[in-house]
Amino acid sequence: MRAVRQELATLGIDPFGTQIDEIITPTEGLIHGRRTILAGTNNYLGLTFDADTIGAAREALDHAGTGTTGSRMANGSYAGHRALETELAEYYGKRDGIVFSTGYQANLGMISALAGPGDTVMIDADSHASIYDGCKLSGADTIRFRHNDAADLGKRLRRLGDKAAGTLVVVEGVYSMLGDRAPLREFVDVAKQYGAVLMVDEAHSLGVLGAKGRGVAEEAGVLDEVDYIVGTFSKSLGNTGGFCVGDSADMDVLRYASRPYVFTASLPPATIAATRQALRKLAAADDLRQRLRENAERLHAGLAKLGFRLGAAPNAVVAVLAGEKLEALRFWDHLLKQGVYVNVMVPPATPSDESLLRCSVSAAHTPAQIDAICAAFASWPGARV
Ligand code: PMP
Repeated sequence: MRAVRQELATLGIDPFGTQIDEIITPTEGLIHGRRTILAGTNNYLGLTFDADTIGAAREALDHAGTGTTGSRMANGSYAGHRALETELAEYYGKRDGIVFSTGYQANLGMISALAGPGDTVMIDADSHASIYDGCKLSGADTIRFRHNDAADLGKRLRRLGDKAAGTLVVVEGVYSMLGDRAPLREFVDVAKQYGAVLMVDEAHSLGVLGAKGRGVAEEAGVLDEVDYIVGTFSKSLGNTGGFCVGDSADMDVLRYASRPYVFTASLPPATIAATRQALRKLAAADDLRQRLRENAERLHAGLAKLGFRLGAAPNAVVAVLAGEKLEALRFWDHLLKQGVYVNVMVPPATPSDESLLRCSVSAAHTPAQIDAICAAFASWPGARV
């Protein structure tokens, strides 16, 4: 890491330490003294400045203070935490829910509670770091199957023989790097065939896809057939926190078997109150989802017309394949100087050996901002890759 930092310092580029000096709106901030369009912040519905949500947080601050100063197991379980768990379960039509302090901890907590030494967990090869880390924490054997390949999962489950039944399988709804969706119908069918337990991380699809914003599982019509849905409050809900909902009668057992639940402080009352308010909006946010779709299509079409290679069909995550690492870093820096902030991802953090410039689209972007993002890309003097 030190070598990479040194290399970047030599280039005068610092993509991983970029500071937003002032946040102006959900889609604009001040970076290096320049008003900059934020196109890499996962603020999919633009709810971070929602007046009702801010109002709910203020009221909670006034009435319940700044923090819980403890874990859910000790002094940190307030009525609001439980209410949010019930509301999340109702939203998904599941039996119960568990709220964690981050989405990262939700994956760590659920995977390590559901699997242990002697068990096997099967995960998509392109899984988020929190899924990999959850597997490590569990002590179970981890088997990676080919990205989005249900047949490969089936092959590996078959090889497990008698042990396949009850094996935990983890996939994501939308993959954060390229924005591609999982073929959930196929995964559900394979999991059922072998009696495996299916968990889907909908971090990038909650609020974005499905008629009520319940993600790829809702869009694919398999919500009732997925055993556990994991998600985060840190993207479309505009806050911090994570959760899992499921139909298991043992949700309370899982809660207490989960070290990332037990051994850390619970979310502050203002965060819980704001998230509850945002969740109510999410279910009815058809207009925001429509705007997000239009913005994603506009950006995708604009960049495709400019000759860029893109990661997936129009989606809230629009990834531009940017080739070799140094070229991608220079490209990223050029965009920032044009007043556009995106994420740059370099191998090995990317699914292949190519670097990515990852844009996350928001319902709060105006069409003019989307056009400005395209114009910044168009002004890159380097080669289209
Ligand atoms: N899962 C996935 C797929 C993610 O992309 C992320 C965050 N980028 C997380 C989990 C972790 O969420 P949080 O930011 O709430 O820790």
